[in-house]
Amino acid sequence: MNHVNRQKNLIDEDTLKVRSFGVSFYVLRDAQGLYLIDGGFIGGTNQLLQALDKRGWANERIVGIVVTHGHLDHILNIHRLASITGAWVAAPELDRAHYSGSACYHGVAKFTGLLESLGRPLLGFKTFSPDRLLHDGDMLEIWQGLKMIHLPGHTAGHCGFYCSTRKLLFAADLFASYEHFSHLPPRIFNTNEREMRKSVTRALELDLTGVLPNHGDDVTPEVHLKRLICLHEKMRKSEIL
Ligand SMILES: [Zn+2]
Repeated sequence: MNHVNRQKNLIDEDTLKVRSFGVSFYVLRDAQGLYLIDGGFIGGTNQLLQALDKRGWANERIVGIVVTHGHLDHILNIHRLASITGAWVAAPELDRAHYSGSACYHGVAKFTGLLESLGRPLLGFKTFSPDRLLHDGDMLEIWQGLKMIHLPGHTAGHCGFYCSTRKLLFAADLFASYEHFSHLPPRIFNTNEREMRKSVTRALELDLTGVLPNHGDDVTPEVHLKRLICLHEKMRKSEIL
């Protein structure tokens, strides 16, 4: 595999980034098999199969699916993927209403609620019940150990998954990371702006060498982290923290 492909598809030998419509998700691999962090959006299942094939992981079993929060672009395919693979699903308890398609949105986020209520039937969303409901600090004994870090504000249950061995945070939608345009998720997608900004501070208190967001371009986790630090600094300077 050449260097460009490595950059695009691989973060490391045991990690794979899969792109689906406007959002990415991750595949992790350990001795037991594969784990997904979220399940992508439109076309996500096919994108996953293609990515696994390209990576040489097509015959590996998907053992578990870990969900970061209940927005449709992260959970659209969870039911299908769990049914096909028999994988367990672990997801934050506070976003439970999203998994059953009954989340209530308030204030400007009502627009997101409207989009999702149109999108669910249109895109064939199927509800699901997680096998395990996650809370802040819960450990998942997969990969090199992942700790659930509650980072609320985007949704009530929004969380990241932290690997202390690798000093990596799967940061979900804590921010969107693009060169010259890194930003917090737009207001209409968030349940609580203030909590969300506090969550950025909380994430940066972890011992980190890199972060892996679900919305972002193809750069290393280290570059994503630098962008998050810059964003936090801007927020601090403009005293919106
Ligand atoms: Zn989201």
